[in-house]
Amino acid sequence: MSRFLHTRYAGLETYTPGEQPRDKQYIKLNTNESPYPPSPEVLAALGPGEVADLRLYSDPEGAGLREKLAGLYGVTPGQVFLSNGSDDILNFAFMAFGEKGAVFPSLTYSFYPVFANLHQVPYETVPLREDFSVDVAGLSGKGKLTVLANPNAPTGLALPLDQVEALVASNPGHVVVVDEAYVDFGAASAAALLGRYENLLVVMTYSKSRSMAGARLGFALGSRELIADLERLKYATNPYNVNRLTLRLGEAAVDSDPYFRANARRIMATRDKTARALREMGFRLPDSQANFLFVTHPRIDGARLYQKCRERGILIRHFSDPAIAQYNRVTIGAEEEMETFLTMVRDILREEG
Ligand code: PMP
Repeated sequence: MSRFLHTRYAGLETYTPGEQPRDKQYIKLNTNESPYPPSPEVLAALGPGEVADLRLYSDPEGAGLREKLAGLYGVTPGQVFLSNGSDDILNFAFMAFGEKGAVFPSLTYSFYPVFANLHQVPYETVPLREDFSVDVAGLSGKGKLTVLANPNAPTGLALPLDQVEALVASNPGHVVVVDEAYVDFGAASAAALLGRYENLLVVMTYSKSRSMAGARLGFALGSRELIADLERLKYATNPYNVNRLTLRLGEAAVDSDPYFRANARRIMATRDKTARALREMGFRLPDSQANFLFVTHPRIDGARLYQKCRERGILIRHFSDPAIAQYNRVTIGAEEEMETFLTMVRDILREEG
């Protein structure tokens, strides 16, 4: 920290992004990216004309993409907010709706407390239950900004829609953010509730099921009022928060929605097969409805399994939080990548004795 930094940020906690290695080619199962390329329509969307148009600013309203997303999710364009990755929206949500404080589960996406601290939003956490499920009753009726990742990360467990609805209904007058970064891998989306609740903000991303993490595109669906609040903050910070190329790619991706749905189904099948194989090896893991597995084995701790895999060319996640130091999070890659991973883990466990 330099002597120039505002003293407000002296103790600022930051988020540590997952490793993006440059030293060699790994099988990358550490940051929940898709193993599949974006759709052929997305791959063909940018020609020299689009690149030449970079001399122009992007449309701050993102009108074309908002219209397409509105059509896809059965809402109006005024109910869609576009962002530079969904982290951008979560940041705005804490900034905009945290006046009375915030509440979220205690094992969840580790960026939430960082945003809360950044915007000086006092927050409380509600521990997950023993089986890692979210304690909906514990989170309900707090009269604060409530943030639920569904499916949750890093557990992969999803709440059924009636429980999400109960949470939203318990908190009238306060925003409930449902972060659906992983919703396309088998969970039910709270977008179905949008007509009934003005306090619901559903946050989604192109980074996972749509294979576009590098394009940085997220969006939120909500009531016109909530979207207008987010727009206000956007126009007070960075009106061109989504660049021209990404807007174009985003439209091409909506046009090829069936391609991405088919990829998600492939990933789900690979996930369930991988989960069965890991259980046969003695791993314990919750039933994931995301594109990753949260796994633990009695004979090896998380940091060690991570290290052993890394030496052999596969990256997975481990956690510094002592409560989950026994765990690893493994992104679901392509079928062959997971076969390689499983063979490697079998060898490692054999070596560990
Ligand atoms: N929410 C959750 C639960 C996540 O795991 C992630 C990915 N790290 C995000 C939001 C943010 O994703 P992005 O900014 O790439 O849209």
